[in-house]
Amino acid sequence: MYPHRHSPQSDTRQTGLEDSARRSLVSLIFASTGLTIGGFSLLQFSAGNSLFACIELLVCAGLLGASRWIYHTRNLELWIYLYLIPTCAFLVYITLMPDASASAFVWTYLIPLLSYLLLGKRRGLQLAWPYMGGALLLYYWRFPLPQNAHELIDAGNAILCGALIMVFVHLYETRRAITYSQLQHQAQTDPLTGTASRGHFKQELIRGLQEAQRSDSPLVLVLMDIDHFKQVNDRWGHDAGDHALRHICDLLLERLRVTDSLGRLGGEEFGLLLRSTDLDSAKPLVESLRALISQHPLDYRGQRIELSATFGLAQWPSDGRTPDELYRCADSRLYTGKQQGRNCLISGDREIRMSSTLP
Ligand code: GH3
Ligand code: MG
Ligand code: MG
Repeated sequence: MYPHRHSPQSDTRQTGLEDSARRSLVSLIFASTGLTIGGFSLLQFSAGNSLFACIELLVCAGLLGASRWIYHTRNLELWIYLYLIPTCAFLVYITLMPDASASAFVWTYLIPLLSYLLLGKRRGLQLAWPYMGGALLLYYWRFPLPQNAHELIDAGNAILCGALIMVFVHLYETRRAITYSQLQHQAQTDPLTGTASRGHFKQELIRGLQEAQRSDSPLVLVLMDIDHFKQVNDRWGHDAGDHALRHICDLLLERLRVTDSLGRLGGEEFGLLLRSTDLDSAKPLVESLRALISQHPLDYRGQRIELSATFGLAQWPSDGRTPDELYRCADSRLYTGKQQGRNCLISGDREIRMSSTLP
């Protein structure tokens, strides 16, 4: 099986950006709900309902505290449900109170908005649609079928408005999610080669190191630079150079495992992340990549363009513990490889080149 153009893991996990945007939204909603309830507690105090006022003050303080805590919790989803389910229960309660007026039902419209905003399309739908169905039944239990044209218009307004909110919020969230994933894909992908962009590869490296630390398994970072690439451009043209970049990426992706990542760091320099791999097992793999590139010239409009690349390898944790240390080590080995004549791989600091010279 071929690896994805960039790490398949990145598509299923939420990105840091999306996660932090979601946390700040949840925090804002918690804080504004807390302040609203705090405002209501003052009204309860002035109406002499001290017990209710105190409960509301406690809820207000809890929500304000949670609005800060939410940035640090691991289980964001749980906190969202802990907020949404009591909110749903509270809204049912205020519509069931004996002296509740029909206008109390307008709060029902908040549920689809909050559900879709906080939970996204699928889970938002799972919560909002049954809730709205239940609210409709409740409405007709409290206020029996309309008796005249005026009541019919009131009921029609309430139902149509609710239905339209549901449909619009669903359409909006569907489109937002599609656009977001398209933008995310663009930001994470190098347009020419389809491999991970520099920024995304850096994120993958940081995450890879965190996972390696957790599982105490080694990881190898490989930097690869195409040899004499300027000459390819100068001799065959820029378009041929672009074809060569794509050709080399295709060759690499044929050989890499699904767990490996490939990213374009800039120009004709690439990074490879070999997870759960030590230098001893990485060397034969990288050697096979080197051989693959030098043995498969690009066929560009009937012309044969010979290509080769130089590789610098660094292993976590022995060659560096942080992303920067690892990068510096792999980069200096790549530089050594260039000095030693190119088309080779270097995995140690006093290493003699392993491979043949450029054909
Ligand atoms: P070395 O073996 O020392 O790496 O030599 P080199 O010629 O590969 O390195 P140099 O840094 O001198 O040149 C890199 C060239 O890569 C110069 C630049 O025009 C070319 N290049 C960078 N990005 C692209 C691109 O997207 N498309 C094409 N066609 N060429 C590119
Ligand atoms: Mg080069
Ligand atoms: Mg270069």
